[in-house]
Parts: sequence; structure tokens; C-alpha cells
Amino acid sequence: MGANFEGARRPSVAFVTLGCAKNEADTARMRSRLAEAGFALADDPGLADAVVVNTCSFIQSATEESIEAVFDAAGLPNVEAGAPLVVAGCMPARYGDDLADELVEARAFLPCSREDDIAVVMADALGVSLPLPDVREGREPLGGAAEGREGGARAALPYAYVKISDGCDRFCSYCTIPFIRGRYRSFTLEQVRSEVSSHVEAGVREIVLIAQDTGRWGEDFEEPSSLAELVSTLAEEFPDTWLRVMYLQPEGVTEAYLDVVAEHANVCPYFDIPLQHVDAGILRAMNRTGSRAEFERLVERILSRVPDATLRTTLIVGFPGETEELFEELCDFVEEGLFDYVGVFPYSREEGTRAARLDGQVDEDEKAERAQRLRDVADAASAPRIAARIGREMDVIVEGAEEDGQIYGRAMCQAPEVDGVTYLPSGEPGEVVRVRIGDTLLYEMEGE
Ligand code: SF4
Repeated sequence: MGANFEGARRPSVAFVTLGCAKNEADTARMRSRLAEAGFALADDPGLADAVVVNTCSFIQSATEESIEAVFDAAGLPNVEAGAPLVVAGCMPARYGDDLADELVEARAFLPCSREDDIAVVMADALGVSLPLPDVREGREPLGGAAEGREGGARAALPYAYVKISDGCDRFCSYCTIPFIRGRYRSFTLEQVRSEVSSHVEAGVREIVLIAQDTGRWGEDFEEPSSLAELVSTLAEEFPDTWLRVMYLQPEGVTEAYLDVVAEHANVCPYFDIPLQHVDAGILRAMNRTGSRAEFERLVERILSRVPDATLRTTLIVGFPGETEELFEELCDFVEEGLFDYVGVFPYSREEGTRAARLDGQVDEDEKAERAQRLRDVADAASAPRIAARIGREMDVIVEGAEEDGQIYGRAMCQAPEVDGVTYLPSGEPGEVVRVRIGDTLLYEMEGE
């Protein structure tokens, strides 16, 4: 069925984005492709000519949330009246053709590997021909700024996520990502640089480099390169922009990378290193490397080169074979207080993964209880580290104001969306203000 878009009116497309920052970066890329092809971009899915739900399917609960979002979008009056609904991202990648029978509300499916074809798929779904008439005013800057998470509404945030690669070759035994996203593929320096440049031109002050495994960037090129080279190139080319690297696996913390962080004032001294566990046996069953002693040495190595480093990690509790004793060891490690921020996730038994077939599966209630216990331990261990920032001076990028007018921003030690914010007496969004930390309340800071 073709819609009638008369005259200069361009069909508009709105997105609903679920899942992690990597999905947000994919949404930003799809929006750019649509804008390049002449589509208009709408913020409100209820008022758009077409709606894309960019799904997450990493674990079962994320799949359920995505399905609910698809049903919600299908129930919008404009969609019920015929606006096409496109389901993109991880869910079509994971479930393939089976989805078409389950989600009859969707007009088309677009797995991660085909997201760059969004304009063709959208033109087909709307019954319009490409190229659309060239209407330049109101175009999005390429790449787009970070997208507000709630309800997919766009907000003019001073940071943007830039994906430096896709896929993963690690095959951690519990993880579906290598099956959903495919093998590791670094994006070229030119691609990354041009995306960063378009964000900087649009006024973005902080670039968050993301991937499933950022530390391996460049290893797959004919002439191999490295994350250290990428970050130092970007740091020198964009000296007024903060650069932050997320999802750095322990093996990715090379001496060369530590040097780059230590030597560039605009590279956040921030290390987000997923450890997942500290028991060597559990790590082997996860198809990962390391041990508690190795991770302790890793932290020492980072701090000896970057003494003001902020450290974040993620841990999985209730992995098959995790006895109460092994869980206690994990708690004991967190109690050491080596990390400023600790993300805790109960193990999710995912169909098709090796870990799902392992003996020693832990009861769901027990997993939830362990996750809460470890979160409490992490809060108690982190609070003094955050409080130790009182009295220090820091630059803060102003992000916006809360409903009650309270202005807030983030310092280099706070990654977007996960680490809390710094409350500020004044400031304009996008401005960098110098403050003294006057107080902290668990993860939040107050700047004077
Ligand atoms: S590193 Fe492991 S957990 Fe992360 S995406 Fe790759 S396989 Fe999954």
C-alpha cells in the first residue's frame, strides 16, 4: 500500500530504541541514512509516517521488553491507521524468519547486518521511490547527537556515542552477541573520524567510543592498528573534545593505551573493564581468561601509570557452578574497594549458548538474591571512593536541568547514563564549568 506524500512534504520516521548505548549509536546511524535519503525525522512515534523499533535481544528479559515495545508501537493510532512499523536490530538478527509469524504487526524486519539499508526498506514500506526530492533544510547532522532513552525522544545532549566496530569473536559461553552481531569488524579510522567530526561540528563536547570489545580495534586490518593509535589520533585532532572509551576487555589494557590516556588531557582517565567474575574456574567456564590475582595486578598497573583513574566493571552472579563459596569470593573482591562503579547482573540462561547446557545451574531466586547482595556490597565499597572526591576541583560538562530546575552535568569520572551526575549551581547545556566537589550522596556529586 503506497501512502500519498504530496508536494514537498517528506515522509517522517520516528525511532523507539531499546537496549544499550551500542543500539543508540545504531539508531543514530540509521537516522543519518534516512536523512541523507531525504526522509524527515520525527521525535514522536505517535505523529510519524513510519515507526522503527530498534530492538535488543541480548538476554531473554531484553527480548520480552522489545516485544512489548513492538506491541506498544503497533497500538499507536497512526500505526493502526496504516503507518508502517519496522522492527530492526538484535531481535530480527537473533530470531530471523521466525519473527514474521510471531509479529504480524511489523511491515518489515531489518537485522543489525542490514541496518545501512534502512532507506531502501523504508521507501518500500511507505510505497515511495528513492531518491526522494532533495529538501535540504532541516537535515540532521550526520551521526546525530545522543538520543534520550526514555520513549526514544531526542534530547540535545552534549555527548554522543560512536561505535568503532561491530560484532565479537570472543564467544563467552553465556553470550548471544557473536551469533546476533557476527564476527568482529573494526570500522576504519576514516569512518570513525568523520563521525566524530560531524558530532563535534554539531556542538557535541564528549565522544563515547563504544563496541562489543573496544580493545581489539584495528587488529583485523590488513595493516593492523590499535585502540591506542585510534584514541591518540582523535585526541590530537579534537583537542577540545572529551574522549571516553567503554567496554575495554582486560586484555585491551595495553601499555601503549595507558600511555595515551596518561598523555592526553582530553582522554578521560576512565576504565570500563568487564571482568564478569574473579574465580579462575568460573572464568574458564565462561570461556574467559584471568583470575582474582591477575585482576588485582591489572588495577595496580593502571594506577601506576594513571593515578587518577576511575574504574568501572561489570560482574555476573549465579553463573552455572557458582557455589556460595565462590560467590563469597566475588563479594570479598568487591569489598576490596578497587572499583568506583560495579554493575551487577544475574546470569541469564540463553537458548543456544554453551553455558545454558552446563551442569550446576543456579536457581532463579538464588541468582536474584545474590545479585542484590553483591549490589549492596558494591554500594558500600564505592561510597568512600566517591566521597574521597570531596574537595577536588573538576571540569564538568553541563547536561541540562531536572524538572525542578536543578542543573546537572558530568565530570570525567562519570560516564553517561550509568555513573550518576554532578549537581551544579549554574551553567548552560554544553558548557564546561570548573567546580569544587562540595558533597556526595552515594554516586551523585555536588559541585560548588
Ligand atoms: S566479549 Fe564476551 S560478553 Fe562481550 S560481546 Fe563478546 S562474547 Fe559477548
